[in-house]
Amino acid sequence: MTRKYAVRTFGCQMNAHDSERIAGLFEHEGMERAAHEDEADVIVLNTCCIRENADDKLYGTLGWLKPWKEAGIDRQIVVAGCLAQKDKERVRERAPFVDVVMGTHNVHRAVDLLKATAGGAGITEIFDEAVIDDHALFPSALPVRREKSYNAWVTIQIGCDNTCTYCIVPSVRGAEISRPFADIVAEVTDLAAQGVTEVTLLGQNVNSYGRDLSLEQRRLGDHDVRVRPQFADLLRSVGAVEGIRRVRFTSPHPKDMTTDVLHAMAETPDVCEHLHYPLQSGSDRVLALMHRGYTGARYLERLAEARRIIHDLAVTTDIIVGFPGETEADFTASLEVAAEAKFDSAYLFIYSPREGTAAAEMTEHFVDPAVAGERFDRMKVVLDRTAVLKHRERIGRTEEVIVEGRNKRDETMLTGRTRQNKLVHFASNEMLRVGTYAQVLITDAARFHLSGHLVEVGDAPQHKVRLSVQAVG
Ligand code: SF4
Repeated sequence: MTRKYAVRTFGCQMNAHDSERIAGLFEHEGMERAAHEDEADVIVLNTCCIRENADDKLYGTLGWLKPWKEAGIDRQIVVAGCLAQKDKERVRERAPFVDVVMGTHNVHRAVDLLKATAGGAGITEIFDEAVIDDHALFPSALPVRREKSYNAWVTIQIGCDNTCTYCIVPSVRGAEISRPFADIVAEVTDLAAQGVTEVTLLGQNVNSYGRDLSLEQRRLGDHDVRVRPQFADLLRSVGAVEGIRRVRFTSPHPKDMTTDVLHAMAETPDVCEHLHYPLQSGSDRVLALMHRGYTGARYLERLAEARRIIHDLAVTTDIIVGFPGETEADFTASLEVAAEAKFDSAYLFIYSPREGTAAAEMTEHFVDPAVAGERFDRMKVVLDRTAVLKHRERIGRTEEVIVEGRNKRDETMLTGRTRQNKLVHFASNEMLRVGTYAQVLITDAARFHLSGHLVEVGDAPQHKVRLSVQAVG
């Protein structure tokens, strides 16, 4: 009988893409995705340690899964992802019934590990760094079972060489490694041939793409100061792939943003006018404590340059309030920079320590939770106000959207996304297939979305109903 699997993903897009390839590897092996977890023979928990209470969530879920596992002799549980990488043996100690514990560098081994534990003995396999092997290295270079058929994530880089003091990523994802340029372009070309029209280039620090390749070339004796390829070249090449209409990327680092990248965005019509540009703090002192490598003024300068070069650019950000040692004066500086930056939207967080990071050690400087909460509310007022103003500027415009499906709250409406990555709920007399391009007149605006009605149906989707599972790269 065909074995069925279910994957639960916690965390970021990088994790979601890892889940896609775990699913792809299973389907390549002849397994099927279960409609409900109850029907599954294998349940994978792809964990994240960036979010708050990640441990509680994992062990809570495992507590719920224990009776499920005991009810069927062939049932298997896999714990993968950052938390598995970070906590290594702890997962097995706390949940000995788990069959496979595997790290972020072991995803390509999912099927082998599952087979190895079929006899009942559990296994923990955590590689400390990426294995230099074509199929092991990059999530996209493995069979993949994509969640959406009109758009796709494409990994261009893994790991991170930065040392942001609040972030656990470098220790669980390892050093930065850029994927070969030609492999990325080949994958995007292949996706376009399958009808994908929108790609999102993924990496922890995308605009430093190619730095390690350049260093390697220099090491081998090529001392050309500007060794290609770099991220700007990648944007231009991916944007030139026939059939691709929208290129997005996440996340760039402000300290590595170059004018070249901004020009590549402006001059490549398929690169969307959206920049996610994480500020984190507007205080120079806090930015230094965070090891971010820029000041508030430098950030604003680069932002102004981006808006000058790229017409109709939408800018989103991440902000942390209550970082250890943040004073009222530091927070006021953050408020000022946020107000001046006029973001289209923002992910706002109250600092919470991640075990294993430098900031988590600064316990004597932790900000009182009540003070941090109050700062969160004050920052939210500023961010909400600019988001609404930015959204209102779009009323009366006709925007190109790509249809994502029916509106979840109002089945009579459709939902789509603009090039600026704004969600649009719109009225339409006809049901449009997911992935259709359409022109929508914007008639209203709120904090998180725009509203409007259909003006014209554009290109129909080209993708098959579901992409085949296949190895690429
Ligand atoms: S750039 Fe900083 S925040 Fe982003 S992944 Fe690297 S260390 Fe973490």
